[in-house]
Amino acid sequence: MPKYIFCTGGVVSSVGKGVAAASIGRVLKSRGVSVTMQKLDPYINVDPGTMSPYQHGEVFVTEDGAETDLDLGHYERFIDENLSKACNTTTGQIYAEVIAKERRGDYLGGTIQVIPHITNEIKRRIGLAARATNPDVVIVEVGGTVGDIESLPFLEAIRQMRKDVGRDHVAYIHVTWLPHIGATNELKTKPTQHSVHELRGIGISPDMIVLRSNYPMNDAIREKIALFTDVDTRAVIPLSNADVLYEVPLLLEETGVADFLIERLGLNASALPDLNDWRMMVDEMKKDKESLPIAIVGKYVELEDAYISVRESLYHAGVAHDLDVQIDWISSEDLEKGRGLDRLEKVAGIVVPGGFGYRGIEGKIIAARFARENNVPYLGLCLGMQVMCIEKMRSIVASDDPNSTEFNHTTHHPVIDLMPEQRDISDMGGTMRLGSYPCALVPGTHAARAYGTAMVHERHRHRFEFNNAYRDQLTKSGLVISGLSPDGRLVEIAELADHPFMVGSQFHPEFKSRPNRPHPLFKAFVEAAAQLDSVEK
Ligand code: GLN
Repeated sequence: MPKYIFCTGGVVSSVGKGVAAASIGRVLKSRGVSVTMQKLDPYINVDPGTMSPYQHGEVFVTEDGAETDLDLGHYERFIDENLSKACNTTTGQIYAEVIAKERRGDYLGGTIQVIPHITNEIKRRIGLAARATNPDVVIVEVGGTVGDIESLPFLEAIRQMRKDVGRDHVAYIHVTWLPHIGATNELKTKPTQHSVHELRGIGISPDMIVLRSNYPMNDAIREKIALFTDVDTRAVIPLSNADVLYEVPLLLEETGVADFLIERLGLNASALPDLNDWRMMVDEMKKDKESLPIAIVGKYVELEDAYISVRESLYHAGVAHDLDVQIDWISSEDLEKGRGLDRLEKVAGIVVPGGFGYRGIEGKIIAARFARENNVPYLGLCLGMQVMCIEKMRSIVASDDPNSTEFNHTTHHPVIDLMPEQRDISDMGGTMRLGSYPCALVPGTHAARAYGTAMVHERHRHRFEFNNAYRDQLTKSGLVISGLSPDGRLVEIAELADHPFMVGSQFHPEFKSRPNRPHPLFKAFVEAAAQLDSVEK
């Protein structure tokens, strides 16, 4: 039977609870403990797939095609394990299941209530995440902060788990924030005290408190919190901001987090961590490097979280080339209004990430045109690939008519069109082509060289596709189809001949980049950008 570590948040959100939980996963894994992770999201949407990136940030896609919370991206990058559908559960899913059972008559006339029906369904789903890989430890993060109305059923469910699986099989970690008061230059513990008090009121006594702060903490603060919250001083863990994100597991290891949890849960683990490779990686990351300016041209650029895996993938690839990728976030709508072109002139490479809807499309096409005409390395991700094909077609027919039918139903050149299997679908949620599919690479292309293999598997999330009616015309004019579904029907990667590196993938390579294993396409793109940069210098 696995052991469970439940992570809750207190005081404020956005303090890095997901990264802290993922880093605890990494330190346990470094002791030879097998780990999986799960996020419980209290919102009522079934999944974040239908939510605006402004509200929710990126939608992370798993191998098995679940549209999930961006924290799953952190989990995969830190624990280096592929997660599945079972690893993200929302209030929407819980209620949908319980209501479906009620309609079927499964409850035999009972009155359906939050306790026990909703809480039982939550616990069933925690069990599903555990059963998927049968690990030693399941780390379960509860979204939101203690005190939210929405999270109460989740907190009640994890409280009950202690009785269900036994006290020694469950540990609770509460992640809080210490505000800094400038006038007196102190860190304040009161909000943490209140938050732990509130958690206690729900029946959960934390075994460990992780204190997040922008400032270093002294032992007096730890002791004070230990005193007020009745948590072991050694389990009050300071975690001020790290220089690099991936340093967090190393910082946590130093505080004794792993030793405490191994002892508390009676885990069969090695006495010393195997973090040498990770440490070497972080040392590389922290070294001074030459910077490489890369533009990300998107429509949600005000919120970096909307492109968090793209940002991380560029970072991983940069480190692999001993370069510090500096991202210039350019709004595609600005480009449409004639602003920001000078910024494109200053970068060594352009990334156009995924997206939906017409807003900002023409700006992305301007970026693709700039990259093509000026031989600037370009990496198109899903929509970025579609935009690249549209732009190429526009240049061939010398007209702005070519388009995707997503943006113009009446275009005479539907270079990108709805996938046939999507035609009869009207529901928006979870209905795209989702998850991992194989892609055969065409030898001699940028893509094949980047991967160095004949077949790859990549994660998808799209409704539209390259329209094969335009294959001949485009390939005769310099478009190279470099990746195809094994049956040859779907264009999965396209690139331009006579260009240093203009490559677009219908899939999202950013979901598979790991800090210790940068994605081949990002690596090749950064290499091409670095070459341009050194020529320009
Ligand atoms: N909107 C496009 C499609 O549905 C691209 C999707 C994406 O970039 N993820 O095909």
